[in-house]
Amino acid sequence: MPREYSYDIVIVGGGPAGSSAAFTAARNGVSVALLEKEESIAQTVRTSGVTWIDDIRDFGIPEDCFNPIKNFSFCSPNNKVTISDETPRAAVLDVRKTYRWLADEAVHAGADVFVSTNVRDVIRDKNGDIVGVNCTGPDGETVFHAKIVIDASGFASVVCKAMGLAPRWKKFGAGAEYEARAENVESDTWWLMVGQQYSPAGYAWIFPLGDDRVRIGVGVGKPESDVDPTQRLKEIVEKRLGPIKNLGRLTETEFHYGLIPNDGLSRKTVFNNLLLVGDSAGQANPLVLEGIRYAIKFGRVAGTVASEAIMSGKTDKNALYPYEQKWRDEIESKINTAGKVQDRWIKLTDEQWDRELDIISELSAKEFVDFIKADFGLANIVKLAAHHPKLAVRQLFGMIKNR
Ligand SMILES: Cc1cc2nc3c(=O)[nH]c(=O)nc-3n(C[C@H](O)[C@H](O)[C@H](O)COP(=O)(O)OP(=O)(O)OC[C@H]3O[C@@H](n4cnc5c(N)ncnc54)[C@H](O)[C@@H]3O)c2cc1C
Repeated sequence: MPREYSYDIVIVGGGPAGSSAAFTAARNGVSVALLEKEESIAQTVRTSGVTWIDDIRDFGIPEDCFNPIKNFSFCSPNNKVTISDETPRAAVLDVRKTYRWLADEAVHAGADVFVSTNVRDVIRDKNGDIVGVNCTGPDGETVFHAKIVIDASGFASVVCKAMGLAPRWKKFGAGAEYEARAENVESDTWWLMVGQQYSPAGYAWIFPLGDDRVRIGVGVGKPESDVDPTQRLKEIVEKRLGPIKNLGRLTETEFHYGLIPNDGLSRKTVFNNLLLVGDSAGQANPLVLEGIRYAIKFGRVAGTVASEAIMSGKTDKNALYPYEQKWRDEIESKINTAGKVQDRWIKLTDEQWDRELDIISELSAKEFVDFIKADFGLANIVKLAAHHPKLAVRQLFGMIKNR
């Protein structure tokens, strides 16, 4: 006989979205189980961890979880630009430490965390709505009954796939990365490297983690390019291309690989008794394929809305809709606009990238961060248009007006 548990809310996936949902739901007093298939939270790192200091501080993430960045360097085959800020606005997270801190927050709020618990299938009621999940756990077959299930399983989207609610992602990014110790690191400077030799549909990066630690990686857009990011990463590191050569001797300490959806916000994210959040909902900024801050922010919203639904006794899609409304209001138009910029970037030739860097060099640090964060609010666009007519026309207005 399988082991059986009953919870108000069962959350599948102990990444930033799942832990954040577990935190707010448990804080509201409902019973919460957070299920993670790996042996520990963040056992495998699948992300580079770049994010923004304003967001980190809003979330309450401790200062020792991130390395601040204030110089944004770009290089293309024949051009180079650095935009310097007075105070750092960006950061590279210690991903493992941050994700574990988020899960600890959930535990302190009262959530139960089950690791080594791999969700394989869903349990439905007579109407076909989800009422639990079947897992393989440390003690074998395990069943979790739930009034609400939150799918926070990332790219895999295991629950919504098992429910037949979403097809496979058509567009996605694949990334490979070394974490390494390097002889020479400028710990407050990141590098983004663009052009065919780095990635035919994407970019390569150097993200410092503090002290002598760096992440060096390659991201490739699929299906636009069939280049294998792991192979390309090996090549650019072996050849010490561009700014990699300045790092001096490298000692690799970890290898990371991951996939991130890039289909825009195409999925519905609420169903009867079910919410999707984070990568599983496609909540990623397509410009630099970053989604951690959305996972945390909308994870917290999902946990709040789900726990309120439990307390009201109604868990159908209408009761859960305020979650979808909230995230769509906040990011839908920004993500759509960023997607158009990305569509253009992905087609640039090496020569066009060389010229694009000249345009980027006209931006102040604040404008650059707003841009790369996809913070395309109307006020920002108007300011950009006033200060940089060429840039605004070429990069932004032409796309914005068609929204
Ligand atoms: C190469 C790469 C680089 C990236 N760089 C950045 C960056 O610099 N900055 C940024 O903000 N974002 C970045 N991202 C995106 C970022 O990693 C995601 O947006 C973020 O992790 C989404 O969080 P999540 O909680 O939705 O999913 P995940 O972090 O993927 O967490 C999902 C969790 O669910 C678990 N799980 C999966 N299946 C099951 C199952 N069957 N049963 C139980 N548990 C399961 C997984 O083990 C995992 O712990 C990058 C992504 C990639 C691939």
